[in-house]
Amino acid sequence: MSSYPPAQTVAEFEAGIAEVMRRIDAAADRAGRSPSDVRLLPVSKTVPQERLRLAVAAGCRELGENKPQEAKRKSAEMADLDVSWAVIGHLQTNKAKDVAAVAAEFQALDSVRVAEALDRRLQALGRGLDVYVQVNTSDEEQKYGLPPAEVPAFLAELPAFASLRLRGFMTLAEFSSDEERVRACFRRLRDVRDRAVQDWPEAVELSMGMSGDYEIAVEEGSTCVRVGQAIFGSRALPDSHYWPEGQ
Ligand SMILES: *Cc1c(COP(=O)(O)O)cnc(C)c1O
Repeated sequence: MSSYPPAQTVAEFEAGIAEVMRRIDAAADRAGRSPSDVRLLPVSKTVPQERLRLAVAAGCRELGENKPQEAKRKSAEMADLDVSWAVIGHLQTNKAKDVAAVAAEFQALDSVRVAEALDRRLQALGRGLDVYVQVNTSDEEQKYGLPPAEVPAFLAELPAFASLRLRGFMTLAEFSSDEERVRACFRRLRDVRDRAVQDWPEAVELSMGMSGDYEIAVEEGSTCVRVGQAIFGSRALPDSHYWPEGQ
C-alpha cells in the first residue's frame, strides 16, 4: 500500500489535484479516450472541514463521502460553500432521509428496499437524485453490490421510483497487487453497462477507480474516479474500518 503525504495548504492541494489529473490524462491518452470524459470525484471521508476548506479553495466543487451521517454533518458545517456532495457508500434504509436531504448523487444503490426508502424521502422533499447501481465485480462475499447477473432484474424495478435518475454503475475492484485481477473487475462493470445501456440509454457512467487503481480504471473506461488518499493523504486506519462490511 502506497503512502500519500497529507496536503496542508491550498497550494499543496492544487499540486496534488494537478498530479492526479495529469495521470488521468495520460491513462486516457493510452486508451485513446478524451480526458474530459473522466470526472475526478475527491473523496473526503475522515478529513475534517478545516482541511476540506483548503481543498475547496484549490478548486474542488464536489466531494464524496462514504457515510451518510458524515456527509450530513459536513454539508451543514460547510453550507457557506458551493460544494455538492456525493454519497458513495452502503446505505441503510434508516439513513435514507440524510441522503435524500443532502446528496446530489448516490453511488451505492444495491437494493429495492433502499430505492423505496430514498424515493419516499425524495418525493416528500420534492427532489430528484442521480443514482449509480453498485455492482460486486470481484465475487468477494464481504463486498456490497449486486452480482452482475442480478443487475437487469434490479433495473427493471427502478421505474417505480420516479425521483431516482439512473446514471450508471459503480464498483470497487478487488484489492490485489495483481493488475490483471483489478482490470478484470473494471471490465465486468463495463460489460454490465454495455448490456444495460440498450434499455437504459442514460445509464452510461462508470464510477470505478480509487487512489490505488484509478489509472487502470481510466484505461478500462471509467467516467468517474473516486480518489481520496492521493489527494488528502493516507488515512490512519485500514480500509476495513471504513467498510465495515459483511456483518
Ligand atoms: C474511501 C473510498 C474511496 C477512495 O479511496 P482512496 O483509497 O482514499 O482513494 C473510493 N470509493 C469508496 C466507496 C470509498 O469508500
